Amino acid sequence: MNGALNGVTSTAGIVPLNDLSRSWIATAPEVQEAVRRVLSSGWYVLGPETSAFEQELAEFLGCERALGVASGTDALRIALLAVGCESGSEIVCAANAGGYAAIAAASIGSRLVYADVDPASLVLTPDTVLAVIGPDTRAVVVTHLYGNVADAPGIVAACSERGIAVVEDCAQSLGASLNGARVGTFGDVAALSFYPTKNLGAAGDGGAIATNDPDIARAAVELRQYGWTSKYRIEREHGINSRLDEIQAAILRVGLRFVDDLAERRKEIVRRYRVVLGTPAIRPVSGETESFVAHLAVVRCSDRQSAMDRLHAAGISTAIHYPIPDHRQRALPAPVRQTDLKVTEQACREVFSLPCFPEMDRLELERVISALAVAVAP
Ligand SMILES: *Cc1c(COP(=O)(O)O)cnc(C)c1O
Repeated sequence: MNGALNGVTSTAGIVPLNDLSRSWIATAPEVQEAVRRVLSSGWYVLGPETSAFEQELAEFLGCERALGVASGTDALRIALLAVGCESGSEIVCAANAGGYAAIAAASIGSRLVYADVDPASLVLTPDTVLAVIGPDTRAVVVTHLYGNVADAPGIVAACSERGIAVVEDCAQSLGASLNGARVGTFGDVAALSFYPTKNLGAAGDGGAIATNDPDIARAAVELRQYGWTSKYRIEREHGINSRLDEIQAAILRVGLRFVDDLAERRKEIVRRYRVVLGTPAIRPVSGETESFVAHLAVVRCSDRQSAMDRLHAAGISTAIHYPIPDHRQRALPAPVRQTDLKVTEQACREVFSLPCFPEMDRLELERVISALAVAVAP
């Protein structure tokens, strides 16, 4: 009730991890006009706004086709089905990326094998993938976690000669590029999420699939709408209803124009944090490379709880992405093979995230930086 009684509340309040209400302020007139345009059009699902967004997204990524779906998880599920995964197929993914790939794989009855991650960037590498793939592996899901970029070309090279499909999960790295090409264009197909907190966020749920392969694109078009090859003709198995709606598409068209600029602001925040970090006590996970787009400002600390406690006492919000690795989630199917996940296990004990959003103001940034300086002090 009374802020003065609450020891963690300074007069300046709490610095939030993210504040989505601020993300609409700059584009409010354009977004309101977009919503009004859709409402008065009478066309609300898979219409002209979705088609235009799909085209603009494909141009942004530099790929042949982008297709709107209802969420990032659906995008993963549809991508896996479109590359030929089915019940019993073996899918390799990381175990530290929130469980989304595992959920999608489990939803189609596929079997899971987890690969460990690079100790610096916490993403899969060609070596960690090669260490766990087997004769039955059908696909690898490469998650570009936190805005870090995995060596997708290297993983594709390792997989393609073995007939294994590569699905890039770009939910946390839209706009990142590697060797001049955007992530999402290296594998057979990419999955994107427009959940409101993502680097391109809708005012609700949304997702997309991106691919250069016309067969995968056709499969995805059919899978997202009941398995229809044409109206009311159900000719592809495992079809679902997973469509992007016109209001979200119209809003996303506005947001897409600012993705790169907003990523610069996020990167600047992480650069400022890095100046005070890098002691053995707390080290940054993110931002080592040019490719990084700063979805989350993740650090790791062997005594995570006390670092988080110190930050909370100074009014700084934190969160853990992600505390439980997939192979320890009770309701995910057990992997078909035990694999060495030492780096994953340790990362899940040590990582936590700091406030990082483009609209963070100067005072908030300074407060996090000075609280960090105290938190890393011996
Ligand atoms: C958010 C996220 C997803 C899932 O997206 P939804 O739109 O919430 O279903 C998948 N993968 C990663 C890495 C994510 O961060």
